[in-house]
Amino acid sequence: MSLAQPSAAASSTSPTTPKAARHAKFADLPTQALLPITTRPELVFTHGKGGWLYDHEGKRYLDFIQGWAVNSLGHCHPVMRDALATQGSLLLNPSPAYYNLPMIELADLLANLSGLGKVFFANSGAEANESAIKLARKWGQLHPNSAGKARFEIITFKNAFHGRTLATMSASGKPGWDTIFAPQVPGFPKAELNDIASVEALIGPETVAVMLEPIQGEAGVVPATPEFMKALRELTTARGLLLIVDEVQTGCGRTGTLFQYQQSGIVPDIMTLGKGIGGGVPLAAMLCGDEFAVFQPGDQGGTYNGNPLMCAVGLAVMRTVSSPGFLEFVRAQADYLSAGLQHLSSRYGGQGERGAGLLRALLLGRDIGPQLVEAARDMTPDGLLLNSARPNLLRFMPALNVSREEIDQMLSMLDTLLAKHV
Ligand SMILES: *Cc1c(COP(=O)(O)O)cnc(C)c1O
Repeated sequence: MSLAQPSAAASSTSPTTPKAARHAKFADLPTQALLPITTRPELVFTHGKGGWLYDHEGKRYLDFIQGWAVNSLGHCHPVMRDALATQGSLLLNPSPAYYNLPMIELADLLANLSGLGKVFFANSGAEANESAIKLARKWGQLHPNSAGKARFEIITFKNAFHGRTLATMSASGKPGWDTIFAPQVPGFPKAELNDIASVEALIGPETVAVMLEPIQGEAGVVPATPEFMKALRELTTARGLLLIVDEVQTGCGRTGTLFQYQQSGIVPDIMTLGKGIGGGVPLAAMLCGDEFAVFQPGDQGGTYNGNPLMCAVGLAVMRTVSSPGFLEFVRAQADYLSAGLQHLSSRYGGQGERGAGLLRALLLGRDIGPQLVEAARDMTPDGLLLNSARPNLLRFMPALNVSREEIDQMLSMLDTLLAKHV
């Protein structure tokens, strides 16, 4: 089976931007109607294929961001296009109050792949995490402490990222997030990652769960060690607490196994998925063991939850990612990328690289990340899209079917940039 799409790099001429989408002048576009929430560069992406994105002037960019670890199969993969077209002419939305086939099939596939027997679909990672938080609190009401009081506290971690709703911001440990939209949702004390004593010290009569990312993505690809994951599993089991893993960024093959927690040999009670599960469309999920499925009708839901259009795409993506040979391919590409980054690091006096699978960071040793991101984008004739999750590092999140040629091309462009900026 061929995993990579035919590489656009192989053809010497880049496809032309469709006429309707072409606007030679950025300044003529009415961009001012968009509420400013981030500083965007002055370019408009009009189409994408595999590892490449094309802007309004026809310039192409090698994409090592892929929608923030979202486009598992690259841009506009045929299995996703087909799923959208087929489902789009069958059924879009019968309402979440009725069964539909893609919802049933995707839940069954996810339950079989993870061993967690129950699946709830959501539209974003934050919403899946809200669900996990609600489920844990509900479970804490049904399993009160020795004084008969409901348990609701969920221990989370410094520098964690769980989303942008009020509760998931409160669960996050991003510096400054405790005050920007104060007051926070209470009940999320913060421990230190990879320090089991710091978790134990926070357990109180109202604690119901511990929640973490197996690799802290937004913090700069900071892994929880397998020893820590095992210690957390033992501690939570011994103390009657739920273990929740947020695999929104690490799940669905991103780190070379279907789920990152598998690499430490533990099984969580609750897991959340997002980003890669939809391959680029809004889809997320919360999974839990059968014994933790304590929602009553009316406790949780949402207008678009489990809609057949997104579930059909998720099904196509997850079938591809879990097909024979796919994860071996991801691990081989990851080893190749890792070796290349390591090589660049020693060449330019950096501090090495880290990560798992195709979620990696290059440690620059100085705060030149944002500068490199801009210079990479502005390169000609082809640009390069990179992310600097922290100023002293670059994060790499290519499509899981990235080709060796694309990795080579990225490394060579990065080499050129580092030679200029270090
Ligand atoms: C991106 C992310 C989220 C939030 O997902 P959204 O779809 O943006 O709401 C939550 N947790 C982790 C670990 C993430 O990387």
